[in-house]
Amino acid sequence: MFELFIFILGTAIGSFLGVVIDRLPRDESLNGRSHCNFCKHNLGVLDLLPVISFILLNGKCRYCKRKLSWQYPFIEMLTGLLFVMVFIVRYPAGVYLEQDFYSLLAYLGIVSCAIVIFMVDLKKQIIPDEVQISLFLIVFLLKILQGVSVTGLGFGLVEGALVMVPILFLYLLTKGRGMGFGDVKLSFIVGFLLGLKSGLVALYIAFILGAIVGVLLLVSKKKKMKSKIAFGPYIILGMIMMLFWQETILQIIRNIYRI
Ligand SMILES: [Zn+2]
Repeated sequence: MFELFIFILGTAIGSFLGVVIDRLPRDESLNGRSHCNFCKHNLGVLDLLPVISFILLNGKCRYCKRKLSWQYPFIEMLTGLLFVMVFIVRYPAGVYLEQDFYSLLAYLGIVSCAIVIFMVDLKKQIIPDEVQISLFLIVFLLKILQGVSVTGLGFGLVEGALVMVPILFLYLLTKGRGMGFGDVKLSFIVGFLLGLKSGLVALYIAFILGAIVGVLLLVSKKKKMKSKIAFGPYIILGMIMMLFWQETILQIIRNIYRI
């Protein structure tokens, strides 16, 4: 039952994330009423039910009947599913302690930031600082909730800096064309969150996925050799995979490289 609750919570948060993804790159206020992007008609409660409204309205605006973007229901479903994943994977024994409850909230916050970074970077090739800072602060709070000492926090920051090094190097080498500085900052946060080893593995996953998708796009002629491809989404995928399946992935890597 708690899974269903957390899924519905996820779709509601996802509805908000959809707005953030739309408005943040345009520096639009997040407070304004939700409105149709075409006819600007304000949306009522019945138009704003996550996923359900989209299905009931057959994917069209109630007022101007124009086709709504698939982005909203997609983000809502994705957030709901990832929230349930966090709960199942990280809390297999359930959430009973107050401390667990707060750390669960922190993980949900991390996933929410991850979704925004993924989508905004994919669409606009930027990673807004507001989201990076939010992500960093949530990771910081999570560490405090987990009882990490001041020394431990300092050590974590050093690990973040070390994970950042390869991306910083690529950023300097390509003069910002291959990697943006947003990727550098993001890899620092990923290293802080996951630690040195898992952080580097997350980047490794990002490079593999990036290479696979890059080749596929080249072959399908969707992109040219010189076109810009955002790397942030791959870092996010690597981070989420390590957040969910850290032990399994580390075991696979140990088996492949016999270390
Ligand atoms: Zn409309």
